[in-house]
Amino acid sequence: MTTTEIRRQFPALERTVYGKPLVYFDNAATVQRPRSVLQKWVELSEQSNANIHRAVHKLAVDATEEYESTRDVVRDFIGASSREEIIFTSGTTASVNLVAFSFGEAFVHEGDEIIVSEAEHHSNILPWQMLCERKHATLKVLPIDDEGHWRLDALEPMLGNKVKIVAISQISNVLGILNPVRDLITICHRHDIPVFVDGAQGIVHEGMNVTETDCDFYAFSGHKLYAAPGTGVLYGKKKWLDRMPPYMGGGEMIETVRFSGSTYAPVPGKFEAGTQNLAGTPTLKPAIEIAKQLKDNELERCLSETGAFLMDALSQRPGIKLFGVPRGTEKKIPLFSFAVQGVHHEDLALLLDKMGIAVRSGQMCAEPLMDRFGVTGMLRASLVGYNTLAEAEKFIKALDRAIGMLS
Ligand code: PMP
Repeated sequence: MTTTEIRRQFPALERTVYGKPLVYFDNAATVQRPRSVLQKWVELSEQSNANIHRAVHKLAVDATEEYESTRDVVRDFIGASSREEIIFTSGTTASVNLVAFSFGEAFVHEGDEIIVSEAEHHSNILPWQMLCERKHATLKVLPIDDEGHWRLDALEPMLGNKVKIVAISQISNVLGILNPVRDLITICHRHDIPVFVDGAQGIVHEGMNVTETDCDFYAFSGHKLYAAPGTGVLYGKKKWLDRMPPYMGGGEMIETVRFSGSTYAPVPGKFEAGTQNLAGTPTLKPAIEIAKQLKDNELERCLSETGAFLMDALSQRPGIKLFGVPRGTEKKIPLFSFAVQGVHHEDLALLLDKMGIAVRSGQMCAEPLMDRFGVTGMLRASLVGYNTLAEAEKFIKALDRAIGMLS
């Protein structure tokens, strides 16, 4: 499969912005969707729009089949041992909140501790912080070094029987470096401490095998994996999910309901309260299909060539400070966050936009990380398999031009 063939499947990539062909480098925020996903979304809305798990009529049976077969596809995609361990949510944020609340209710008490890393997205900080406030527990922070790597040497001394869970990301949305998740899990499991992995950025570039990695929880968003927005997944080991109370009540998450007290459905139903995203969630099926196609060797080779070009171009430019520089053989995804001396990131992003180039600017929902690096914000170019070397060259030219205009 060639990049041109892949690109043809994404209608948004054909559009122009201010009369110029769109260069979409904001994929870490959300990726564009292929026709197969859009078609599935429309088809379900037009033909099988019925509430799932409820009625016996044909539309409801079809909608339920689409939704439940998605659970099997996701189970297979992330290597979970059972479909009951796959819970559908509205995205990574919802998945983190579910675990922080529900795991917190069951296992976190006054005086306990929870650990997150200094490089987390707000979505993997705030739910834990809120839990700590609720339970009078303490949020502890695994520090990073000046290049953004976890200080794993600092982890072991932080672990003790007060620590109830460690929550970290597979890949930071600012740094783009593959974190040593497996090593961290080994250390935590030596102390019988479960690990929650935020896979929002990891899933599309690296995928995940939850069984091999042995994480206790794993979360990702559909919209960063080519699926519909408002879709997401939470994987949890059944041994934990079974012992966690429901997060929300209502709908088909019940077994029996009495005013004197109710009982709940087994997992995953227990965690899927209310009407589910019945047109959106099944788009994970074609989305996973396209994610697999984008793992084609030739496409991967092109993307790593483009990544290497950007890495070189950005690190060679005086006045540009790149964050998340890999060490030795460390793997970095094509995600480049940087600051330009004397130029505000927002001004640069606005000028680039006028040249047809979409990048992210600001704090990237990682304010503690911005503080760690002493910056008020950054510019971020993030690519996926449908982006090309020609686009990267255009971006660097436009960046030089914009910096020239602003300095
Ligand atoms: N974690 C990371 C690392 C992210 O990049 C994001 C999205 N930028 C999130 C969590 C939150 O994802 P969502 O907004 O889809 O819930």
